[in-house]
Amino acid sequence: MWDPERMSTFRKKRRAAVLEHASRTPYYKSVFERMGATWRDLVDDSAFIEIPLTHKSDVRDRPNDFLARPRVKGDSIVRTSGTTGSSLAIFKDANAIAEMWAVWWRYRHWHGITRGTWCAFFSGRRFMGEGQGAPYWRTNYPGREVRFSGHHISPATVQCYVDRLNRSRLPWIHGFPSVIASLARCMLERGLGLDYQPLVLTVGGENLTPWQLKSIQDAFGVTPVQHYGLAEQVANISECVEGRLHVDEDFAEVELINQGGGLSQIVGTPYGNGATVLLRYATGDLAVADKDHCTCGRAGRLVASIDGRQYDVIVLPDGRFAAPAAAFIPALGLAEAQVVQHENGSLTVRYVPSVGWSAGSLEALDHSLRNFVGQAMEVNYVRVDEVQRTPTGKVRFAISELRGNERANQVSPSPSLEERGPAIPSQS
Ligand SMILES: [Zn+2]
Repeated sequence: MWDPERMSTFRKKRRAAVLEHASRTPYYKSVFERMGATWRDLVDDSAFIEIPLTHKSDVRDRPNDFLARPRVKGDSIVRTSGTTGSSLAIFKDANAIAEMWAVWWRYRHWHGITRGTWCAFFSGRRFMGEGQGAPYWRTNYPGREVRFSGHHISPATVQCYVDRLNRSRLPWIHGFPSVIASLARCMLERGLGLDYQPLVLTVGGENLTPWQLKSIQDAFGVTPVQHYGLAEQVANISECVEGRLHVDEDFAEVELINQGGGLSQIVGTPYGNGATVLLRYATGDLAVADKDHCTCGRAGRLVASIDGRQYDVIVLPDGRFAAPAAAFIPALGLAEAQVVQHENGSLTVRYVPSVGWSAGSLEALDHSLRNFVGQAMEVNYVRVDEVQRTPTGKVRFAISELRGNERANQVSPSPSLEERGPAIPSQS
């Protein structure tokens, strides 16, 4: 709630600290030398943006060059995983972890969640064997969490899940949107609902797609609240009580760099990490900047939407990128959808129908998709029971098999850690 001047002073102080810190890393020491500058020369806005962007591939190839000091006991290693199997190692000190949870819990507090609020957590990770039967949850009393298995949700088991929620009237529902939407779809199919109104439903870790939003609203009677964060901690964006997305300006230096077409790339410099230092790190994630001010009075800049990560784009025959998720409108009656772009450029659309899917829906979907990809592209449609998941249970909307498409094949920026609280750290 600080005024812009106070926030700006605070940010400048933190920026200077991170630049000083960066000057002690082998990577940025040589960047600064090439620029003929010391860290002090780079504190002002105009000089700071002259620092070349840092890309994932830079860090992946030599993670130790980004360390400002030797690793110490208490540092955590966070690995972001990608579908290509390569991973990125980021080292975080205890302070970085603490700042991340502080900024996440601040956002949760805005929505009435406290450390004592019981959570129904819909996990993407496996914690039960495939063949294990009911109950499809485990209760963590000290952590105030009932963890539900996302892998066992089906029309046959959904009654158990709904009964469990109703029995304890769990006030806070949280998880990956793909998992909660899958529960919602089964509830709608079976005509089941909650007999209480949850306090709040939060999602994170993946983009929330329009068709998931519709299913969740219909089944739970609440609109999901979301935030954006990355394992790399280079940016954080939180939804406020007015439903607007605010950049957490005190957490990281966030730049929204225009990419054309109304989209900006999120580029970030984390403030609070004494281990791995990153300056102007290109996340590959896209957002739509919003010049408006929010009536809630919070300081952070607004973004209108976080619009599909760059790996959620496909490449058109003329080389342009398109983000076709918006073609998959909820009215079609979709439960899930995924686009695979093959080596020859053609697309396969995998889709899971939901209630409301009708004879004309596929044709309508094709018509809608053609508005994004044009008529020339070969598109095949495959009806499936479930779309492909990553090893950690995340759904990626677009999967690229194009060779040399470094952008689309980059390591996945694990958009936010899955865990809901420090009671069960996932990072170490
Ligand atoms: Zn607001």
